[in-house]
Amino acid sequence: MMDRSKILNWLREEDPQRLDALWSQADTVRRENVGEEIHLRGLIEISNFCVRRCAYCGLRADNQDLKRYRMSETEIMGCVRQALDFGYGTVVVQSGEDYGIKTDWLAGIIRRIKAETPLAVTLSLGERPDEDLIAWREAGADRYLLRFETSNRTLYDRIHPPLPGKRSDRIAILRKLQLLGYEAGSGVMVGIPGQTYEDLADDIETFRCLDLDMIGVGPYIPHPQTPLWREMPPSIKTGGRPADPFGGPQFRQNGQQVPNTEGMTYKVIALTRIVCPKANIPSTTALATLNLANGREQGLARGANVVMPNLTPPAYRALYEIYPAKACVFENPRDCHACLHRRILSMGRKVGIGRGDSPRRTSLDARK
Ligand code: SF4
Repeated sequence: MMDRSKILNWLREEDPQRLDALWSQADTVRRENVGEEIHLRGLIEISNFCVRRCAYCGLRADNQDLKRYRMSETEIMGCVRQALDFGYGTVVVQSGEDYGIKTDWLAGIIRRIKAETPLAVTLSLGERPDEDLIAWREAGADRYLLRFETSNRTLYDRIHPPLPGKRSDRIAILRKLQLLGYEAGSGVMVGIPGQTYEDLADDIETFRCLDLDMIGVGPYIPHPQTPLWREMPPSIKTGGRPADPFGGPQFRQNGQQVPNTEGMTYKVIALTRIVCPKANIPSTTALATLNLANGREQGLARGANVVMPNLTPPAYRALYEIYPAKACVFENPRDCHACLHRRILSMGRKVGIGRGDSPRRTSLDARK
């Protein structure tokens, strides 16, 4: 049993040979529980408007330097058809928390996708009210992603200012999504300034408690137009992206600060796979951003089984800048598709066929 103290020990482990044992265990658990298929989810970033002010995110409402866009129904359906052409089983419809996306308008698009294609629809649209979540589920949406980012409430409040008069409680929303019959997905950032190893161990325990269908884990990548960047020591803000965002003593927390590195992200992916064996776990674009050569492959070799190729039209893609210098921003979707296929086959894995529903759900349904 991977209990909390073992999780903590692994998070602090730096010996490459011992870490090989962790990678190997995660890969075995992945193979036994979700198989060799890697599911491709076509990502459509339909709007970069956002009313929120998350302290790490380039889409935050008060970033005046960002040109905003919202895709039309015709543009969205064009991306959906491309997903079909490429043989993907799912589209992920993502945006900032944008109330310009009207409930009925999006419900109509979901109904069209479900009527015209066999695709699963995943939504990732922020903390929308219950009425919206209900309407979209009734329209046919299958899954909803909402990262809780950190289980440390004080840290969460520091980086997620709520809307006026509201309290942000993403864990409560995730439970609601499950009750509504969505496959629920969540996740965290690794290496948020102020995040400790204890926090990260709690995050992984929270994944276990929530019994999630999908879990996404990515490194914190600093964005210059954000408060978290502005808090960093000036000495390390060179070259557009600090090599070590925790160079100042206020970030180090006496050795408790989790680094936002590739290696630490792999540890969290591997531990998440072991703790939640049947979850769908993506190897994220943020990982590919830290290591374009083979970050995605290493994530897939250490527990992940999902990749999310970007179908957003190139004209909008660079504007969906949660963090800077995102991998694959200038590739067109066809090139991305071919590249991912090549990478998956070269690992000896298979490209998933069909919707790639949550194996956790499928085994629960079989027991009914
Ligand atoms: S993380 Fe999401 S909700 Fe927060 S500012 Fe960025 S897009 Fe908006």
